[in-house]
Parts: sequence; C-alpha cells; structure tokens
Amino acid sequence: MATYKKHCIYCGELIPGDAHSCPLCAHEDPFHIRCPKCRNPVETGWKVCSSCGLRLTALCAACGKETPTARTCAHCGAPVLVQCPNRKCGETQILMLDGNCVACGKPLLNRRK
Ligand SMILES: [Zn+2]
Ligand SMILES: [Zn+2]
Ligand SMILES: [Zn+2]
Ligand SMILES: [Zn+2]
Repeated sequence: MATYKKHCIYCGELIPGDAHSCPLCAHEDPFHIRCPKCRNPVETGWKVCSSCGLRLTALCAACGKETPTARTCAHCGAPVLVQCPNRKCGETQILMLDGNCVACGKPLLNRRK
C-alpha cells in the first residue's frame, strides 16, 4: 500500500493523503473545503452547498472577481482561503462575498474605513 501525499488546503504543505487532520497546521479534514455554514464537505467548483444551499461563491482578494469554491482563484490563481485576522479566532476559510469571518463575524480583510 503506497503512502501518497496530498496538499493540505489550509497550509498548502504536503502531508499523508490519509490524514484526518493536518499534522502541520492542525486543521481537521485537510483535503476538503467545508461549507462555512453547516460544515458539510464541498467539492471544488460547487456553487452552492449540497446540504444547506448556501451560495459558495468566493471572492478573490487579489483580483476582486467571484470565483467558484476552490483553494485558488479561477481567474488569477491567488489563494482564496484566508485566515481570520482576529487573533482569538484565526479560522481559515473561503472568503465569502460578504467578507466576514464565518466563525466570529469580523471582517476578514482590512478595508479602508
Ligand atoms: Zn495544513
Ligand atoms: Zn452548507
Ligand atoms: Zn483572483
Ligand atoms: Zn474569525
């Protein structure tokens, strides 16, 4: 049985393909993006969650375009997953259209006030 390695979607490092949580960044389920609302695993390219119907379109922080759920932007290749800047939270997630953290509700990007 060959041990293959896959990239963790959160930290991008190569880790064992059967890992249940990433040994490097400690994120659960390192190969699946999860719905920010119901935590259902969602596949790359899905536009809505199959479980709760949440619109999964992400917003690319680099080019500002909407991109389907994925690790990286379909337009410019920039990473779409962002980490919450709130130090008590730190949740890594897809940047949703409203730009707020799914865990703590704070804005994920520093926007001009
Ligand atoms: Zn990781
Ligand atoms: Zn969902
Ligand atoms: Zn982009
Ligand atoms: Zn947060």
